[in-house]
Amino acid sequence: MSNNSGGSGHDVHSFYGKKASKLIRSLKEKIERREEEFSTRPVPDMCPRYGILGPCPAWDVFPTQLAALDQAEQDPTLFVFAFESSTFGGAGKRQFVVADPRVFYDNFRNRPLAQRTAYEVIPVHRRSKLYFDLEFEKDLNESKDGVAMTKVLISIVQHLIESTYNVPCPHEKIVNLDSSTSKKFSKHLIFDLESIAFKNNLNVGNFVRSLCEKITKSCTDNSTTDLTQSIDHDFHSLFVNTKDGHKALFIDQGVYSRNRNFRLYQATKYGKNTPLLLAHDATGFTFNSNDEDIFLASLVTFVSPSCRTVTFGDQELTDRPKPALSSLNNVKCAARLASKSPFEELDDFISNQINGGTIRRWTYFDKTQTIVYTIEGYRYCHNIGREHKSNGIFYVVNIATMTWYQKCFDPECRGYKSAEWELPAHSVPWSRGADEADWSNNSSDESKSTPQNETQWSKEWWDDEYDVMMQSADIDLLGRSGY
Ligand SMILES: [Zn+2]
Repeated sequence: MSNNSGGSGHDVHSFYGKKASKLIRSLKEKIERREEEFSTRPVPDMCPRYGILGPCPAWDVFPTQLAALDQAEQDPTLFVFAFESSTFGGAGKRQFVVADPRVFYDNFRNRPLAQRTAYEVIPVHRRSKLYFDLEFEKDLNESKDGVAMTKVLISIVQHLIESTYNVPCPHEKIVNLDSSTSKKFSKHLIFDLESIAFKNNLNVGNFVRSLCEKITKSCTDNSTTDLTQSIDHDFHSLFVNTKDGHKALFIDQGVYSRNRNFRLYQATKYGKNTPLLLAHDATGFTFNSNDEDIFLASLVTFVSPSCRTVTFGDQELTDRPKPALSSLNNVKCAARLASKSPFEELDDFISNQINGGTIRRWTYFDKTQTIVYTIEGYRYCHNIGREHKSNGIFYVVNIATMTWYQKCFDPECRGYKSAEWELPAHSVPWSRGADEADWSNNSSDESKSTPQNETQWSKEWWDDEYDVMMQSADIDLLGRSGY
């Protein structure tokens, strides 16, 4: 067993000898192994080589977003990208790559579609392009023409950019990406303007919220506004029916939070094969454009150094405060029906795991710092490896340990508990070890940031049926604190 080949793994003598075929076989095996590794690993660890004049070839992988952001902060040419793992048990778990965008894209573009589950992390300290996430449910909005709506929105944006900042906002500079399905209209618009960039994405959020208010005002007051005078369109067309029976703009205003993860050009959501591609109604970058150019133009924080920095609104006022965990201490348990919990990022994370399902209810247990999410419309159970026909599942999220797991209401799965998975840092940005530093400026007065309505946290929301359901599912919630 003394194969002294200097660590290369191959005996140099065999290369020329009759062992050649054996070597070829072993190389083939090695390549196959490598292929398999490539398809199962959440993040590739190899890096293409560049000449000395090319981009910085650095390629660092981090388990937490905070560590990745810290690394990228040292060098403005490096960006943070989040990768979603597709390996079993780690489903949806994110890892973070710090790399030059061109180096990253070179690797990313060559991965099979199912592995292209990646996002740009938009650091709050970086300058940001104006970007939009547009969406609506098609079956609730059969008469809606998303392409025509997008066109109206673009003319509104052009008018507001030109009148507010006195710079051009040409069609050629708009990246129009689409990942619509038969069920859902879904678009990203990124304005790759040459002359201005926003101070950060919180300022972009302020600009977009103001734009949305102007549209709403024109529709509700029926009054003549600056917008209606300049643009001859019926803005009512921009409102859509939502799942909860309301009317709302098709502009998602929730994508302007700190260190937001925004899906990349050509990337797909985890478990779905619908990549974000150039839209058919794209006017700027078109199908003749170079893919790498589109990729770079679509990056929200890939801003030209010559851009003038602009601001909009007061970011401190519109920034969301940390959820007040301490205010929950007097409540043994609290439950609320189908609506958002104070843990917005956590809600988002869970919503992203359930493939079109919805969070039916969330419940917070203060003793264990645990939130239970019961799920509707998605029944995938890790115990049976497929969806149940009628019984639902629920997830238990432990804020203290930053982990989550799945349990099941089906009698056959009684007592089952999946493996515990780590929560990605972006889902608990207010948690220790996550992006705590980001909250230090506005966490001084927690009494101001109690949940909007205290009664929502009272025991009234707790109903017996739910209690029984939890017990029958044999949930081990209070065990940790000795109950
Ligand atoms: Zn089950």
